[in-house]
Amino acid sequence: MARLELDGVSKHYGDFYAAREVTLDVAEGEFLVLLGPSGCGKTTTLRAIAGFVEPSAGTVRIGGKDVTRLPPWKRNTGLVFQNYALFPHLTVAQNVAFGLEMRKVSKADAATKVNEALRLVRLDHLGDRLPRQLSGGQQQRVALARALVFRPDVLLLDEPLSNLDAKLRNEVRVEIRSLQQRLGITTVMVTHDQEEALTMADRLVVMSEGKVRQVGSQRDLYERPADRFVAGFVGRSSFLEGHMSGDTLTTPGGLAIKCARKIAGEAVVALRPERVFVGTEPVTTADNSFPGEVEFVSYMGGLIDIHVRLSEHDQVIAQVPNHDGSVLPAVGDRVHVGWAPTSAVFPAEHNGMDG
Ligand code: ATP
Repeated sequence: MARLELDGVSKHYGDFYAAREVTLDVAEGEFLVLLGPSGCGKTTTLRAIAGFVEPSAGTVRIGGKDVTRLPPWKRNTGLVFQNYALFPHLTVAQNVAFGLEMRKVSKADAATKVNEALRLVRLDHLGDRLPRQLSGGQQQRVALARALVFRPDVLLLDEPLSNLDAKLRNEVRVEIRSLQQRLGITTVMVTHDQEEALTMADRLVVMSEGKVRQVGSQRDLYERPADRFVAGFVGRSSFLEGHMSGDTLTTPGGLAIKCARKIAGEAVVALRPERVFVGTEPVTTADNSFPGEVEFVSYMGGLIDIHVRLSEHDQVIAQVPNHDGSVLPAVGDRVHVGWAPTSAVFPAEHNGMDG
C-alpha cells in the first residue's frame, strides 16, 4: 500500500494528446475510479501508472519514489485486464505463480503465496484447473489473485468487470471492493460504467478528451459538477440555457426561471430529473411551474421517465417513482412541471460570475 501521485502526465502520439496534464493524488488505501467516455484517455493514464505507456511529459510517483522511467516489472503494481489475459495452457495455480517466478521468489515461498492469494479470492480448491474449465467470474478472480500475489503497492484494474453478465458483475463488484478495503490496497480502476464507478469508488475522476474534468466524491460530482460535461455524464440532467439577470434565467423559449443564485450574462443550469415534479395542475409547492406537453414516456419498473416539452427550445426530463395506483401520462398529454430554485444547479464554470 502506497500513495500514488501523477504530476502533469501527458502522452501524445504525433500532435494528438491521448492524455493531457493529468495530475492526481491517490491516498494510501484509496479506491480511485477513472471514468469517462470511450477514448477519453483513461486507459492511457492507467498504463502510464503501470509502465506500459511512457509519458511524453510529467511524473509518476509511487510511495514518493519517481517511477516514470521504470519498466513495468520494476514497479510494484498489480494489473488486471478486461480480458483477464490468463495463460490457457497453465493451471490456475501456475497462472498465479507466474509473476512470482519473474520476481525470482523461491518455489516453497511461491507455493505459500499462491495459496494465500487463491484463498483471498475463494478459489484455493481450484488451483489445478485450466482457465477454460472455469466460469468467466472465476477466471476474473484468478486474474485478481495473480495481481495480488506479490502484494503490490498499487492495484490497477482496467475495465475488470465488462466481460461479465450483469448479475455476476454486481457480485464481483462487491467482492473486489471488500477485498480492496480489507487489504487496504491503493487502487485505480478504469471504467466507462457510471454505476460501477459510483458504487465502488472512494473518489472519482471524470475525464474527457485526455483531460481531467473533475475529481471528487460521488456527491461532489452529482451535486456540484464542475462543468456541463460532468453534469451530463454523471447521472442525467436537463440543460436550460438563457440569459441571467438577477436570480432569473430567461430562456429563448420565453421561460422565466427562478434560480438560487444571482448571476449576470449567458448561463446554463442543469436540472436533475428526480428534482422535477409533474402534475395535472400548476405546481404550487415550487417557485418554478410551467405547462408543457409530454413527448416521451419511458417505463422502467420502479421509476418512470417523462420528457416534457416546455417551449420550442426548452425540454425537461422528470423521473417519478412508480407508486401504487400511479397514473402514467401519455404522449401528447398536457401537464405541469415544477422545481425549486435550488434544484437548478449552475456548473462550477459559472463561479465568479455573480452579479
Ligand atoms: P476506451 O474506454 O475505449 O478504452 P479510453 O478512455 O481508455 O477508451 P485510451 O485507450 O486511453 O482511451 O485512448 C485515448 C485516445 O488515444 C484514443 O483516441 C486512442 O485512439 C488514442 N490512442 C491510444 N493509444 C494510441 C496509440 N498507441 N497511438 C495512437 N493513438 C492512440
